[in-house]
Amino acid sequence: MIIGSEGPSAPQCSRAGCRADAIRGVHWRNPRIHGIDRVKVWAACDEHVDFLAEFLRSRDFPVIVTALGETVDSVGVETTS
Ligand SMILES: [Zn+2]
Repeated sequence: MIIGSEGPSAPQCSRAGCRADAIRGVHWRNPRIHGIDRVKVWAACDEHVDFLAEFLRSRDFPVIVTALGETVDSVGVETTS
């Protein structure tokens, strides 16, 4: 798994093999190792944002998807109803 990094240049999608410009930010946290104030961010293109979010949700990680460049203070545990 490639972990996207934030930088000043136009970020690319975090999906392996995808070279598209990212337009979405996928904010997530691994509750097993990350504190509540820890937020990891993957950049994603429009095509793969759902793939990346579902990848994380399938591991029971809380996920928040925003426009690229937006920040979130924390990623809480999502309620599944
Ligand atoms: Zn992509």
